[in-house]
Amino acid sequence: MKILNWTLPGKFERFYKRQVEALGFEPEFVPNPDLPKDVNGRIRHEAEDLPGMSRRIEIRPTVSKKEAKHTITHERMHLVLEQEGYPTVTVTPEQLAWEDCATVLGQVLVHPIMDRRLDQYGFDREAYSGRTLRQIRAAFREPPIRVPPGTKSWLVRLFVYVGITLRLSSSAAEECARLYERRYPSIAQEGEQLVSFIREHGFETPLQCLDILHNIFERYGLIPHMQIRDPRTGAPHEITLAWLSHLPKSKKHGKGD
Ligand SMILES: [Zn+2]
Repeated sequence: MKILNWTLPGKFERFYKRQVEALGFEPEFVPNPDLPKDVNGRIRHEAEDLPGMSRRIEIRPTVSKKEAKHTITHERMHLVLEQEGYPTVTVTPEQLAWEDCATVLGQVLVHPIMDRRLDQYGFDREAYSGRTLRQIRAAFREPPIRVPPGTKSWLVRLFVYVGITLRLSSSAAEECARLYERRYPSIAQEGEQLVSFIREHGFETPLQCLDILHNIFERYGLIPHMQIRDPRTGAPHEITLAWLSHLPKSKKHGKGD
């Protein structure tokens, strides 16, 4: 099976076919050499796409064959989850400065769900834990950066912390927490509260994910900067406090510094 310049190995074929079945269509893969640093692939939502559904995946043409296989599988899995109604987070063209924060927040819940699905097809999650932990250790060998609580860069780091904690094995998550506690105590403290809230609330279903995202939007004042995109409604919509009040009550959690 060939996608762009890469031939996918036979053992991925079963998984790939199941993804096509789940999607009901074959997305288009487009090479983009100008993807942001550290981004190997991403989904583009274009105006002409099906309501709430993208058919286009951009891939950096210079990624290695091994990475390409994972990128293709990973991005398609995002589409499968969107098809199932899991929400995503986007920014408007006027709020592009918040794109990194929206991207990270959009991944916080779907990546752990994706991990569980991929496990069923024999993907190696331990390898993810090991690689991520090495990256975190390397990042913490660099001098600390000042990140005042509540700023955009603090929120990006907070959502990264929560996202990786939900994906790491428990021993790796403990090491990650210790590193953050020493350097970024406010992120570690707030991150742990958010992780507990998400775990207690549950994030298995699209509705649970939507509820958690609304809660996070309200808690951190994200409404002016980002939108929650609910694929079931067909179009992105502004989240307003009035609308939030119609949602089922979420369990409240304490506020950090
Ligand atoms: Zn992803």
